[in-house]
Amino acid sequence: MLSVDWQTRTINPMVLLFGVLVADIIWMAHMFASGQRPLVCSLCGRQTVVPQGAQFCPFCGARFPPMPPT
Ligand SMILES: [Zn+2]
Repeated sequence: MLSVDWQTRTINPMVLLFGVLVADIIWMAHMFASGQRPLVCSLCGRQTVVPQGAQFCPFCGARFPPMPPT
């Protein structure tokens, strides 16, 4: 029979990590769905979310690689 002790309510670190991962994927999907894309600038290394069609890093002005056709 099941011998799971339901009284122990400790949070499994792996469950927490998985939750963060899922939240991150949902956030990414939302960004893509809303026509934005998260990018890491190859020049200054900062992560930013730019609208579709944006070509330059808002931090350092570096040009992003061309957008793949959607
Ligand atoms: Zn930059």
